[in-house]
Amino acid sequence: MSDRFQAIFIGKTDRGQTVELKELSNADLMDGDVTVEVEHSTVNYKDGLALTGKAPILRKYPLIPGVDFSGTVSASSHAEFKPGDKVVLNGWGVGESHHGGYAGRARVPGDWLVRLPDQVSTGEAMAIGTAGYTAMLAVMALQEQGVRPGEGEVLVTGAAGGLGSVAIALLSKVGYTVIASTGRLSEEPYLKSLGANGVVDRGEFSTPVKPLGRMRWAGAVDSVGSITLANVLSQTQYGGTVAACGLAQGSDLPATVMPFILRGVKLVGIDSVHCPKTRRIEAWRRLARDLDKSKLAAMTTHVKLAEVPRIASEIVAGRIRGRVVVDI
Ligand code: NDP
Repeated sequence: MSDRFQAIFIGKTDRGQTVELKELSNADLMDGDVTVEVEHSTVNYKDGLALTGKAPILRKYPLIPGVDFSGTVSASSHAEFKPGDKVVLNGWGVGESHHGGYAGRARVPGDWLVRLPDQVSTGEAMAIGTAGYTAMLAVMALQEQGVRPGEGEVLVTGAAGGLGSVAIALLSKVGYTVIASTGRLSEEPYLKSLGANGVVDRGEFSTPVKPLGRMRWAGAVDSVGSITLANVLSQTQYGGTVAACGLAQGSDLPATVMPFILRGVKLVGIDSVHCPKTRRIEAWRRLARDLDKSKLAAMTTHVKLAEVPRIASEIVAGRIRGRVVVDI
């Protein structure tokens, strides 16, 4: 096996970040007890922020970005993994402070890896990616908080994005009535093909926030934050739950406490990066069981490593539909 591999490498100069496609060797990798031949990575919103430098995601330079990857173990001194195992990695600071997934090879602590369920290929694992695994964590949170199918509509914001697309497919599969909020109404056929029962214009959630709006949502999966999340909270039914996953509109939350203290609304935070391993394993087991593979294929496009910087700008601009897999 060659010692050398291609990688995207981010450096820093006085004038800002540099992004280049480079050949690296094993000596360039960081510490870890498992080496993985990376087969696929993906472009998540956070990768877009990291590559464009629009938010301070990188905490170390130079660094290989990419917050997730899937592949095959080639060397391991970790008790849980042996060469040939198919694995996935999401988060744990990979692509932020530890070399990430935009490379032919990765060396990481084995505790960060999850063995892929037999039904999920490495390609499918990255079609799901961190956005899809986070969508699964959000659906699990709604279920744990007692949101049941038949109790009302569940809203998904940022619906045509990666997290939103997977959330729609999962919620629909387990029986919820799903309403998709999007700024791209032309994507209505796509969103309905994933399982959305209705589509609303995201502009409806950017109006001034009332402390208590008309009760509409039994639950919600929110990937945009800010005024949208505040409006969703004010429209959530008595006892309903909102899973806060993202900040595509903004990290602020201009809300009042009224939905919480007068309607018992619950706001649950979803974190994929440091999520405990047992919960990750459960999320991947559920993804293997509940995510329709034809819907996953329909929401996925494939690119090469060299195209990642271009896709990074596109995702931050909100122009990517569904999920983008990077074929290493
Ligand atoms: P995408 O870019 O694929 O999806 C985001 C979607 O949000 C867009 O497609 C768009 O949907 C909508 N959107 C974009 N800009 C705005 C805006 N200004 N106002 C309202 N809506 C907007 O990103 P991902 O799906 O990869 O990630 C979604 C969010 O979730 C990101 O903020 C990301 O950082 C976060 N995230 C969080 C994780 C966690 O651990 N908590 C893990 C993974 C992601 P449409 O065109 O349909 O309106």
